[in-house]
Amino acid sequence: MTAIQSRFERGGAAHSLPPTATARIERLRGERMLVPHTLLLAEPRGFCAGVVRAIDALDRLLASEPPPIYAFHEIVHNRYVVDRFRSRGAIFVNSIAEVPEGARIVLSAHGVAPAVVEQARQRRLRIVDATCPLVTKVHLETRKAARDGFEILLVGHRGHDEIVGTAGEAPARTTVLETPDEVAALPRRAGPVFVVTQTTLSVDDTAKTISAIRDRYPDAQVRNDICYATTNRQAAVRAIAERADLVLVVGSPNSSNTVRLREVAASAGKPAYRVDGLEEIDPAWYEGVGVVGLTAGASVPDALLEPIIADLRARGVTRVEPVVVASETMEFNPPVELDAGGGR
Ligand code: SF4
Repeated sequence: MTAIQSRFERGGAAHSLPPTATARIERLRGERMLVPHTLLLAEPRGFCAGVVRAIDALDRLLASEPPPIYAFHEIVHNRYVVDRFRSRGAIFVNSIAEVPEGARIVLSAHGVAPAVVEQARQRRLRIVDATCPLVTKVHLETRKAARDGFEILLVGHRGHDEIVGTAGEAPARTTVLETPDEVAALPRRAGPVFVVTQTTLSVDDTAKTISAIRDRYPDAQVRNDICYATTNRQAAVRAIAERADLVLVVGSPNSSNTVRLREVAASAGKPAYRVDGLEEIDPAWYEGVGVVGLTAGASVPDALLEPIIADLRARGVTRVEPVVVASETMEFNPPVELDAGGGR
């Protein structure tokens, strides 16, 4: 476990079951109604290497430089992580114009369009680029393909920070596609077609969209850029959903990979809920449920799962079983600007 992971994971709040919940469990037991007895923990879940790198960068800056430190967009899409940084002096902005000239700014893990970097340079901002290297790879692929004369089809969610950033590499040549249905509406193209994807998409849905693109443009060059962390977390939630009566996915609503995890669990035919933390769980969800599955999006510290696990134990869970589909060893070097000890 990295230092930044352990710092976030120490933050778990102590939790005790409210008297009304205890009374409800006793009532359910008295009525011989099923209460949770087993918890399946998806592995891997939570922090990925790109998130660790981004929050470590902001953490190091806040520890070594006077506040405020600016961050362009949420450093990662998690309310808890962002609020903790805000309390330490980080200021999150959606426009470079909001940042005073010469200030320190961190670019989020989702990446930004080249125009944003240019704007930041013009304001003489000292940039630390915390874009996940796997997102940077998609930017480089897109830039090169545009230079080589391809039309770019970018599969992803319109308006998501990552898609806005990637499309910004070649805005005049890029078309964003969300669903297979949209492929049918595309014009026949004379020139070559290059396909890239958002890193955090549903593996199954993206396969359908890519298949539709291949049908329409048989010569298209296709890069499926869904990252290892997204792929592994979806495989793990699928594995727990097959055995659970209910699946809980921890993460914020603007976290693409978190939202996809809930969809994958739901597509296995199980009730599945996304929550930011324990406080959003409705105890009524547990009625008649014996096996609960639990996972978390790639921007979620394990600290947020601890109170949920403690709560489930208090409700009757006696067996906690990790369901492991992959082990992850990926680590990324810190942003070069940090190693160099300054901005660029
Ligand atoms: S989810 Fe994938 S692409 Fe996004 S930050 Fe994590 S490793 Fe990088």
